[in-house]
Amino acid sequence: MDLLEYQGKQLFARHGLEVSRGRPAVTVEEAVEAAAEVGYPVVVKAQVLIGGRGKAGGVKLAADEGEVREHAGNILGMDIRGHVVHTLWIEHASDISSEYYASVLLDRSAKAPLVMFSVEGGIEIEQVAEESPDKLVRWHVDALEGLSHSEALQIANKGRADQDVQEGVAKALQALYRVFVEEEATLAEINPLIVTPEREVRALDAKVTLDDNALFRHPDNQDLSDTQNQDPIERRARQEGLQYVKLDGDVGILGNGAGLVMSTLDVVAQAGGSPANFLDAGGGADADKIRQAVELILSNSAVRAVLFNIFGGITRCDEVAKGLIAAFSEIKPTLPFVVRLDGTNAEEGRELLREAALAGVHPARTMDEAAEMVVALAAGSNGASVAG
Ligand code: GDP
Ligand code: MN
Repeated sequence: MDLLEYQGKQLFARHGLEVSRGRPAVTVEEAVEAAAEVGYPVVVKAQVLIGGRGKAGGVKLAADEGEVREHAGNILGMDIRGHVVHTLWIEHASDISSEYYASVLLDRSAKAPLVMFSVEGGIEIEQVAEESPDKLVRWHVDALEGLSHSEALQIANKGRADQDVQEGVAKALQALYRVFVEEEATLAEINPLIVTPEREVRALDAKVTLDDNALFRHPDNQDLSDTQNQDPIERRARQEGLQYVKLDGDVGILGNGAGLVMSTLDVVAQAGGSPANFLDAGGGADADKIRQAVELILSNSAVRAVLFNIFGGITRCDEVAKGLIAAFSEIKPTLPFVVRLDGTNAEEGRELLREAALAGVHPARTMDEAAEMVVALAAGSNGASVAG
């Protein structure tokens, strides 16, 4: 999970890394209030999950309220290489003497955390690595030992940080390393790490990627996901514990088990159709979960027909049938559904569907047959009225 700059800075502050004071804002009025609170001059910064915001016009200095209004108005709604700005971060502007670079990431090939430091900050680190590799210090850390103060000082020294701030840089590197380890990040990057005229060392930007597989150990961090920028249907799915990914087609898909759902996408594509989503109901989905899944699939207005492909294992096909029947009585969908039930309690499930005689539900025996049927129904105009 990638964090927005200001969320990354919250984690930085938690571990003793210096950051400027700031406030988030989602409207121009909020930006003006935030600026008054943090004190002028301020920087108005687009919060999107992509770098190079400065060059794109998404980072602007503002000396007074008029300038905050102007910049906030311009930046909100701005599209930065496909990322629309919904949130701003208003922070007290810093005076900058030098821009350094620091990061900690997981070097998988070395099976160790890697600390990188350079006095050539503020530009893409790939460019530094290419043009002046001698100016980029790469330092592997023994994960069991951690990053000691003397090691951090050696990194600052090797990278030729100004003599008088090497102590400050070392402290920043150690704090960044703590962020990396204690928050279970796979990347923690500061670009630029600035030196102020007062010779303070401070993180002016933050790029943090948290390890999704470790998030359950960090309940505080689970709320940091960028819900504003998520697809609203995907956001709802996450809340309901369903694995849903929106795709661009018109055939709604539900299956149980990621492997089965992926094969279902493949057979639908092979039959000439175009899937509208990936949706894994997971193992042991009960009737209620299935009803929620149907609601999710149908909330995508591009969907013209739906394919249920269930291979019962822990999931019982009769539960799936009950969920589908419940969904039909509540939502009364007018789209055709193709249902293939196989495995645990498949016969009971099919029997339930036969008894319910839901309009528009078409049973299929095999996956290939199901795919052909659903693609034809999605293409046909009167598919919705055909009774199963
Ligand atoms: P990025 O372009 O997405 O990497 O956004 P950054 O947060 O790194 O900001 C881009 C550039 O804006 C920085 O490299 C700085 O040169 C400049 N900048 C950001 N904040 C300040 C600030 O508080 N004061 C000054 N003078 N410049 C800033
Ligand atoms: Mn930056």
